[in-house]
Amino acid sequence: MTAKSRSTDDAGALAAAGLLRPTWADIDLDAFSRNVDAIVRRLPAGSRLIAVLKADAYGHGAVELARRCSPERVAMIAVALLEEALELRGAGIDLPILLLGSVGSADQVALAAGQDMTIGVTSPEMLEIAAASSRDRRVGIALKLDSGMGRVGLREGDLQQAIGTIARSPGLHVDAIYTHFANAGDPRDAYTETQIANFRRMVGVLREVGIEGKLHEANSGATMRGLVAPGELARVGIALYGAEALDVGHSKLEPVMRWRTEIVRLKTLPAGHPVGYGETFRTTRESRIATLPVGYADGYNRLLSNRGEVLVRGRRAPVVGRVSMDLVTIDVTDIADVQFGDEVVLLGSQGSETISAEEIAALTGTISYEVFCNVSARVPRVYREADRMTVRSRFTS
Ligand SMILES: *Cc1c(COP(=O)(O)O)cnc(C)c1O
Repeated sequence: MTAKSRSTDDAGALAAAGLLRPTWADIDLDAFSRNVDAIVRRLPAGSRLIAVLKADAYGHGAVELARRCSPERVAMIAVALLEEALELRGAGIDLPILLLGSVGSADQVALAAGQDMTIGVTSPEMLEIAAASSRDRRVGIALKLDSGMGRVGLREGDLQQAIGTIARSPGLHVDAIYTHFANAGDPRDAYTETQIANFRRMVGVLREVGIEGKLHEANSGATMRGLVAPGELARVGIALYGAEALDVGHSKLEPVMRWRTEIVRLKTLPAGHPVGYGETFRTTRESRIATLPVGYADGYNRLLSNRGEVLVRGRRAPVVGRVSMDLVTIDVTDIADVQFGDEVVLLGSQGSETISAEEIAALTGTISYEVFCNVSARVPRVYREADRMTVRSRFTS
């Protein structure tokens, strides 16, 4: 799936890597590393970073970003699925891995435990499965406590039974105890303090019977708000990718993904001419309309029809007409000298203008996380580093 090139000549190198359509997402690996450094600097004494690389690193590419996670800066990688963890192991990633999602059988527990994975235990049933598997092997678990989100994790009323199970299972090792915040990204939030108090109380109950482990609570929102307790780990996802406009002390986080395409059709339409499916846009003047080889099959949301903007020659151009599966039309009448083949930025910066994931999220009724995750596998990822470029595309081997 990966082709390598040492050339800095884009067109030639990209063609050699099998990229035919001029639509791809550039992933700036050096920006990712700078974000990791900025976040690590933000942590209090004794605290360490767990890099959350689930869902293919929020669409950025988990294997490639995991290679940029040095053990000096990153204590652990967290993913949701056992499949995601196995993909990382298969690619030679040897940092400890935390599995956030549910693991459904003793066989799966055995598979994970044999590959230096800590299994997040999200229910009493899962604890029983892990305990059964631990008769034959050491099983490292992270006990997930539900401190108030109401989604997964052990609740206060589950603790006594869990304590009994752990006491009877010498092969079961509680490596960590953690919880997840429901609202830490909201600056007006008051619920996180309640969750912290609930978590501390539940941790106290476990401590009384000698169950201890590393603690972690904070996600990106809590980390950026300075809510990481000294000595605790922080599980950070979205901030690694430079989204959610989070300010880290004096150093700003940088967007890692830049999604670009090129104009493949440029023409002048007379006033009163419809554009695209459903005639939802009609020119009100003689207009320069450009067509882009990207569509909702690539994750460019159809809700951006007649609403989104893109960058051409460093200026904003509106999406006109409906976004179709493979094509998007934009109005460049007000931008001088636009040419066939010009670069168009859908997400990221061009010149001094930027289309942020937050902007697209606001227009499409979602959050930046989903904007990144939606950039589909049809869009090749081009990994940029100071001295080389690597392409990952589902069309090349
Ligand atoms: C996804 C996830 C995170 C990371 O959240 P961000 O808001 O992206 O920092 C942390 N912890 C758990 C349990 C998660 O599922």
